[in-house]
Amino acid sequence: MKATRSIPEGHSDNPPKLYSYPKYWAECFGTAPFLPMSKQEMEEMGWDSCDIIIVTADAYVDHPSFGMAVVGRLLEAQGFRVGIISQPEWESADAFTQLGRPNLFFGITGGNMDSLINRYTADLRLRSDDAYTPDAEPGKRPDRSVIVYSQRCREAYYDTPIVIGGIEASLRRIAQYDYWSDKVRRSILVDSNADILLFGNAERALAELAHQISNGKTIEEFWDMRGAALIKNETPDQWTEIDSTRIDWPSKIDKISNPYDFHNKQSVDKPNEDRPSPLKIIPLPLQRKADFDSKLSYIRLPSFNKVVNDAALYAHASRVLHQEANPYNGKVLVQKHGTQDVWVNPPPIPLETDEMDWVFDLPYQRKPHPSYGNARIPAYDMIKTSVNIMRGCFGGCTFCSITEHEGRIIQSRSEDSVIREIEKIRDQVPGFTGTISDLGGPTANMYKLNCKSPTIQKSCKRLSCVYPTICKHLNTDHSPTTKLYRRARAVPGVNVSPSHLDCDTTWL
Ligand code: SF4
Repeated sequence: MKATRSIPEGHSDNPPKLYSYPKYWAECFGTAPFLPMSKQEMEEMGWDSCDIIIVTADAYVDHPSFGMAVVGRLLEAQGFRVGIISQPEWESADAFTQLGRPNLFFGITGGNMDSLINRYTADLRLRSDDAYTPDAEPGKRPDRSVIVYSQRCREAYYDTPIVIGGIEASLRRIAQYDYWSDKVRRSILVDSNADILLFGNAERALAELAHQISNGKTIEEFWDMRGAALIKNETPDQWTEIDSTRIDWPSKIDKISNPYDFHNKQSVDKPNEDRPSPLKIIPLPLQRKADFDSKLSYIRLPSFNKVVNDAALYAHASRVLHQEANPYNGKVLVQKHGTQDVWVNPPPIPLETDEMDWVFDLPYQRKPHPSYGNARIPAYDMIKTSVNIMRGCFGGCTFCSITEHEGRIIQSRSEDSVIREIEKIRDQVPGFTGTISDLGGPTANMYKLNCKSPTIQKSCKRLSCVYPTICKHLNTDHSPTTKLYRRARAVPGVNVSPSHLDCDTTWL
């Protein structure tokens, strides 16, 4: 008899293991050789429909360095039937109906790179090639792919839930400066009209979302799910607002206390008592003194209208976003856009090593989909003999997206898992010459480096573990990296190039 499906809560500090969910009934169809990109492939699998359809602006390469493959294989391993619509013609909704209506939702991504970075140079010139397209052909994706694809999916199937994610959506979760138009733009949730945005590494949120939707839950019920942002116009009961809509709060200046008077107790300032509001509202600078349940509180950022017109307030909102990036102590952020509130939950809990291993052990073909024939996909050529060993970065550099997307806590794979992948590359990748091009990741020289104390890490609010000084709590022992390299070099038939600092191209 099949076990009853009981879905554990996905938004606590102790989420269920990724591989612990009871499988969806469609697991009986088995594992697809490649995730279907056509009705014919669906029929060959015996499917009458897809449960989830992923729409991506990249060519489908079934490799763990490509976001649609990681997400697709992850959902397939949960038992769902996953189809891929890759680089669809976006002038009409026709291409978005090619696999039929998904039973659960559309998952939309702009691909491994933001679509504007992919299409334009820093001088705003149109690029002549696209590394994520067969034969590097340019023009196969629209500007702001996430917005365009969402609108077309909405046209195709009006009431099917739309989930957006990937680096393009993740970095645009609140009002953000857009270099390409030289403007501050609204949250992509508002512009795309999507139902929910999953930011950062989204495996946990996706598994939870798919299982719960299949159990009849609606998207609105995920308003408190970690790693998710959505439009929310009502504040839940009992919550406290921490008001951070301004930089300085003019307030009563505390009387300077007599240092010899040990009985002089300062009272907590309550400047908002006069404000008629059903909410308890506390100005940000007073939150440490106030008495409230921090788990039931959110920070209100300056509204979109304010940050558009005020660079200092924009910088303030951005600073608060970064300060609340620790999944263990980050708060919900709320930003008003016109009459709507964009509600951004705390980041996802990082994957444990066994979960990282599970994700990388999924049955990837490590090749582009056969429909591309012999076409060359430059991004695949670059990555096909490269192994991703970790995620995240504790550097916190202000110009970089890694911390904002993947977080400051390093998530590493085990040595055994990396070695297994090297052996698969050696045995499966066509044309493998014996050289693993790198054992990398966004910041590969941080492999297995983290805060020495998990307790301190959970309460830490620093933006960087290495600036302005290297934190005394940081473990800086590189021996796990050198040990891994030595072990990889000992694999028969394999050489390993030195690792290097990669840019982050991981979709999730
Ligand atoms: S205490 Fe130091 S090492 Fe630990 S997370 Fe904070 S900054 Fe990083």
